[in-house]
Amino acid sequence: MNLTPEIVDLQGEFEKIRHQIHENPELGFDELCTAKLVAQKLKEFGYEVYEKIGKTGVVGVLKKGNSDKKIGLRADMDALPMQECTNLPYKSKKENIMHACGHDGHTASLLLAAKYLASQEFNGTLNLYFQPAEEGLGGAKAMIEDGLFEKFDSDYIFGWHNMPFGSDKKFYLKKGAMMASSDRYSIEVIGRGGHGSTPEKTKDPIYAASLLVVALQSIVSRNVDPQNSAVVSIGAFNAGHAFNIIPDNAIIKMSVRALDNETRKLTEEKIYKICKGIAQANDIEIQISKNVVAPVTMNNDEAVDFASKVAKELFGEENCEFNHRPLMASEDFGFFCEMKKCAYAFLENENDIYLHNSSYVFNDKLLARAASYYAKLALKYLNAAF
Ligand SMILES: [Zn+2]
Ligand SMILES: [Zn+2]
Repeated sequence: MNLTPEIVDLQGEFEKIRHQIHENPELGFDELCTAKLVAQKLKEFGYEVYEKIGKTGVVGVLKKGNSDKKIGLRADMDALPMQECTNLPYKSKKENIMHACGHDGHTASLLLAAKYLASQEFNGTLNLYFQPAEEGLGGAKAMIEDGLFEKFDSDYIFGWHNMPFGSDKKFYLKKGAMMASSDRYSIEVIGRGGHGSTPEKTKDPIYAASLLVVALQSIVSRNVDPQNSAVVSIGAFNAGHAFNIIPDNAIIKMSVRALDNETRKLTEEKIYKICKGIAQANDIEIQISKNVVAPVTMNNDEAVDFASKVAKELFGEENCEFNHRPLMASEDFGFFCEMKKCAYAFLENENDIYLHNSSYVFNDKLLARAASYYAKLALKYLNAAF
């Protein structure tokens, strides 16, 4: 590997910062101390700092020279609502809150890059986006709605996630969809309850909801092009409480994912059609509410070409995989991808345990790797023809 030597030398300092963030994890939109620490460090390094962008987000801006080129680098700051079960000396001090997705590492790596970049010459604007609430709460969307791109616009945005694939590669990137869209549907089947002995006097929501569970599976198996990808997973089915009472209603909660917008749209249309048909056939009411967790993390070709060059120089071509299979998990970064030319990469975390596990450990050696990646993207873009 050919990491930036000054960044490697600084890693120890930022490991301490990472551990400090890890010990004091905060949930989405509640990252008050983390945001304060980030803002304080950025100010120390000489950045203009803007706080409370998208509730608890922080933006650091550094302009040098007179070029109108501008690049965005993004990290997420939030932790998860779960109990940490590691024996780390810096394990979470908070009950039921843990950095089990490594966002402490993402934040620390961007701070490390920030310190190094402040000491470098470049021509243009560097925007560092520290976003809140990545874990399903829409922090990226909140920042965008708060005028992120009106105030701190970027030509390209780059982000990364630590990933314990357990492969011998160190860096993964691909053109097109890197991660899936994620939409959540709550479907309420509203019937009419009554005595279990007289179903004819009721409108049984359990029966209608059961038909729905089966019919919804036909979307992927019978409607989605087999060469495209989608997931329809029902995670909750709640109705009734007694042997002999037909309840008034039933509720289904489900997660729907796709790797392209056409398939995503198709799944939505079919959900509404199936619900309408089953409601009609059973003379029952069905109400649907949809919540967008994240759009497809759709990598831009130009951004990927550029980031691939940078990664090859840093990690060596033999350590990079540029055609990695997309994941059906989702990323809040997808909101940035909808607006800007973006590339989202994975760095191997060399860990047997997967993300969101109570024993997950982020490897500190990723700090210098990720910071070198961030820094090289910025300097190469702002200093050279691209
Ligand atoms: Zn996560
Ligand atoms: Zn994550």
